[in-house]
Amino acid sequence: MNYFTTETPFIIAGPCSAETEEQMINVASQLKDAPICMMRAGVWKPRTKPGGFEGMGEKALPWLQTAKAIHGKPICIEVATPEQIELALRYNIDCIWIGARSTVSPFIIQELADALRGVKIPLLIKNPINPDIDLWQGAIERFANAGMQDIGAIHRGFSSYDKNSKYRNKPNWTIPIELKRRMPELPIICDPSHITGRRDLIAHVSQRAMDLHFDGLMIETHPSPDDAWSDAKQQVTPNILKKILSELKIKNGSVTDLNAQLQIEDIRQMVDSLDAELVDIISRRMQLMKKLGGIKAENNISVFQPERWREIIENRTKQGIPLALNEEFILKLFEVLHDKSIKVQLDVLKEK
Ligand code: PEP
Ligand code: MN
Repeated sequence: MNYFTTETPFIIAGPCSAETEEQMINVASQLKDAPICMMRAGVWKPRTKPGGFEGMGEKALPWLQTAKAIHGKPICIEVATPEQIELALRYNIDCIWIGARSTVSPFIIQELADALRGVKIPLLIKNPINPDIDLWQGAIERFANAGMQDIGAIHRGFSSYDKNSKYRNKPNWTIPIELKRRMPELPIICDPSHITGRRDLIAHVSQRAMDLHFDGLMIETHPSPDDAWSDAKQQVTPNILKKILSELKIKNGSVTDLNAQLQIEDIRQMVDSLDAELVDIISRRMQLMKKLGGIKAENNISVFQPERWREIIENRTKQGIPLALNEEFILKLFEVLHDKSIKVQLDVLKEK
């Protein structure tokens, strides 16, 4: 069994950064009666710009042992260089995570994987800051290839230039869901603190993660969040954390009630047959595209017709809205179909 599925949900809490020994003692004592599996604290902080608080470094490592002695739970820190890995191991840190700014770089990841070859320590890998699932999966594979066994992923959201977003890092839920499809055995923990960037949204995003069957949560928790030296706006007090955890509705992965199971089976059968129809319809649409492509090729007509594309979107949206399919969804759906239709027609053109 993977280390991060020994308890569900696997909850990790603790400050963004270890600031002082007193702060760590404080947070550990206040988290003593919280249902968490592990404590976190950043010791080396990769800040986007120079001049920010870059962590207390090696000096903070003994404080984490003090916190562990009080709380009794394993300790997890971020590492970003082979030297940091060596120090983490020297100070008996129980678990390490790879930060979003490291996951973006295959060279850094390979260096860290090589440094961990033959080491037995649970490891969490945050998604890269950009929404690139292959980079995330590639990093996980590099550590797995180096022989690491207890690997989990952390979904911390994705950076974007959209300044109007209510999130600090957009969740883009389809990415972790697709990662789970590609790597079914991989536990994925959600980090609502870095996704939201603000404490009032943490309960909501935590619940969403539970509804989507994530394996755990990592929530930044500080004895006095407003005074935190990093990520002050998104940290919660241990009491708020306890409240958030106690109000979480944990969904069952498997169905135990027979009646519910029968109803689900029924609906799934209907969905299966609708999906079969859908695939058939799409295939027929593409056959028509082949014909259309042939006529366009013979008559020297360009494949993409902006006017026709506008008309399709307008009509399908008009049809979809009264059927509770909103504009954004219709647009996304037809973009995928239209993209494939263009490719089919271009292929016909190539053959001519
Ligand atoms: C952190 O966990 O405090 C952190 C720096 O996270 P991320 O790598 O997700 O930005
Ligand atoms: Mn942080």
